[in-house]
Amino acid sequence: MSNAVISGEKVVNYINGEWTVPVKEKYAAIINPATGEAIGDILLSSKEDVDLAVEAAKKAQKKWALVPAPQRAELLYRVGLIMKERKEELARILTQEMGKVIEEARGEVQEGIDMAFYMAGEGRRLFGNTTPSELKDKFAMSIRVPVGIVGIITPWNFPIAIATWKSFPAIVGGNAVVWKPATETPLMARELVKIFEEAGLPKGVINLVCGSGSQVGNAIVEHPDIDVISFTGSNEVGRTIAETCGRLLKRVSLEMGGKNAVIVMDDADLTLAVEGILWSAFGTSGQRCTACSRVIVHESVKEQLEERLLVAMEKLTLGNGLDESVKVGPVINGSALQKIHEYVGIGKDEGAKLLAGGSIVKHEEYTNGYYYEPTLFTDVKPDMRIAQEEIFGPVVSIIPVKSFEEAIEVNNGVTYGLSSSIFTRDVNRVFAAQRDLDTGIVYVNAGTTGAEIHLPFGGTKGTGNGHRDSGVQALDVFTEWKSVYVDYSGKLQRAQIDVE
Ligand code: NDP
Repeated sequence: MSNAVISGEKVVNYINGEWTVPVKEKYAAIINPATGEAIGDILLSSKEDVDLAVEAAKKAQKKWALVPAPQRAELLYRVGLIMKERKEELARILTQEMGKVIEEARGEVQEGIDMAFYMAGEGRRLFGNTTPSELKDKFAMSIRVPVGIVGIITPWNFPIAIATWKSFPAIVGGNAVVWKPATETPLMARELVKIFEEAGLPKGVINLVCGSGSQVGNAIVEHPDIDVISFTGSNEVGRTIAETCGRLLKRVSLEMGGKNAVIVMDDADLTLAVEGILWSAFGTSGQRCTACSRVIVHESVKEQLEERLLVAMEKLTLGNGLDESVKVGPVINGSALQKIHEYVGIGKDEGAKLLAGGSIVKHEEYTNGYYYEPTLFTDVKPDMRIAQEEIFGPVVSIIPVKSFEEAIEVNNGVTYGLSSSIFTRDVNRVFAAQRDLDTGIVYVNAGTTGAEIHLPFGGTKGTGNGHRDSGVQALDVFTEWKSVYVDYSGKLQRAQIDVE
């Protein structure tokens, strides 16, 4: 695939190192959200295809686990190099398939490249622990071993980055993978699998099964031979997956929604705060799990902040993300557009004041694209639905507060706990805030987005279930701890008993 505009692509399964289709072929269209046009088709697979993928993975994993981890890591290094060579091409596919503007698409591909090199480094570490035994002539250590078969289920909003957060640590850890990408974004999945293929990953170590969540996703979660599920997506789906995994005693890592806030204190650099809010709220058209959807502002600077935000929002050009001058792309599809618009209606009914936006846009050139105006509400009360529920679109609610303490309380008064941010010049507040904000990620004098891959990524409360993607912590999802005792005394030594 070159840098050309995409059309007529067909995405099928990749099982046991072969691009394959089932006997009965059924497809759904892949739509470019900027134009509303079909750019290809995705195969809709069934449970039987998942079974085939698991069989292939089981066979491959046994051998893969015996490849020394530094050699497994070499492969990831090659994956990173290929991604780097193809960065621009991948970014252009991403923009056409998912809609985010090209600059952000490049950033997302770069995140995958960073993850490849970072996890390649982990192949030469995968550190365990040694510790003294309580007995003489006995050695004690704990080591990481692969979990086995990993089921990966990913959303459409970061179609390549999230896949790399999960598949790279799984693969370097000696596991084999069965991956179901979002139905909206199979092209990026296919490109990543092609890169694994080119890098020389043995057949069966990664398997791609395309299809719906209810068919393929559910079959992966229910499969008795899949040992761990790593899921990123909505709370609704994550909860059902957790219930199933609970019943099956299956390990599950969940990364779900957010209701992230930027706090702007009375001493904040307002120019910087406006830039941070704009980038966090309207980047990826508000469809990031870390998107800023609440601005908690000290009442003494509220009016100034609103004025500056309104001026800045006027410059946000809306359109096809392939155009370098466009700042805000489309949302993913028609139902997302409707859901966002419904929330705007709810906000108005609840008594929030609409300052800007609030409408579906009929784009002059791309009349079938899915565009929503960047939208700003003010005088929002913390308990209103628009201040509590994830909208996942370009809609921001300004919530005025009287003090630092109230700002923290409002920030923490939601069921989610992914990301938060504070703009202030007061060092005492900075340290109190990073202690008291109850999210998995905290930013100081920056918006709510901008994670770097060598730090753990994930949220508290309703956002997750205690695991983390990326960072060395990701390895805990994909490896088991094994404790090994080597007794070289030549006699029976009983722990806790023969300790004198
Ligand atoms: P969904 O939960 O709708 O879908 C996520 C994935 O799950 C898709 O591949 C989907 O398949 C699949 N799926 C759907 N139903 C089932 C099922 N019953 N069993 C198994 N799998 C299923 O989320 P979205 O794709 O709409 O993504 C947006 C959500 O993701 C937002 O809530 C966002 O906050 C969250 N997110 C969280 C992140 C984090 O790290 N915390 C990062 C990025 C996004 P299909 O596509 O076929 O429906």
